Amino acid sequence: MKIFCIGRNYVDHAKELNNPVPKKPLIFMKPNTALLVKGRHFFYPDFSNEIHYECEVVLKIGKNGRHIEPQFAHRYIHEITLGLDLTARDLQRQCKAKGHPWEIAKGFDFSAPLGTFVPYDEWKDKDIPFTLEKNGNVVQRGNTKDLIFEFSHLISYISTMFTLKLGDLIFTGTPAGVGEIQKGDLLEGFLDGKKLLNCNIR
Ligand code: ZN
Repeated sequence: MKIFCIGRNYVDHAKELNNPVPKKPLIFMKPNTALLVKGRHFFYPDFSNEIHYECEVVLKIGKNGRHIEPQFAHRYIHEITLGLDLTARDLQRQCKAKGHPWEIAKGFDFSAPLGTFVPYDEWKDKDIPFTLEKNGNVVQRGNTKDLIFEFSHLISYISTMFTLKLGDLIFTGTPAGVGEIQKGDLLEGFLDGKKLLNCNIR
């Protein structure tokens, strides 16, 4: 399975990191060894001193497809949840300065904690509000109505270049409010008030 991630897909987040708002979706990938599931703990690695949380709505693809038309794209979404696109911001800054790829900053082991999936059907055609709490305080508040490129656009665009397969995941981008994690932190993600994601930092 493949994990696609979308960068800068909310205007307020692009601005907080002084990045331009993209004209096309900004795509990168994580390997499947980045997944951290079932609420397992994240152990802070030695190679970074500045890991950021980015809370994102994650789509799970339910059938194979390529060159998917935007009007049919919703049929390819099977389930959704919240995930964290953990980012070694110090390494990413170095990569960006040199024009190097981002993999070491974004694709390292367990850099993609995932919440519990729920069926997508009940969310079809609805705005999806979500929040991330760090140690009980809300640090990110997002709503998919503020996406620059909505789900159907992302699926259509990705599928022109990559065959989408059953079980592939799409991290759809993070709203403003990203920040550092520290050992001892508890991160909890809520989709429309329902807790789906739990991650302890150790
Ligand atoms: Zn992200």
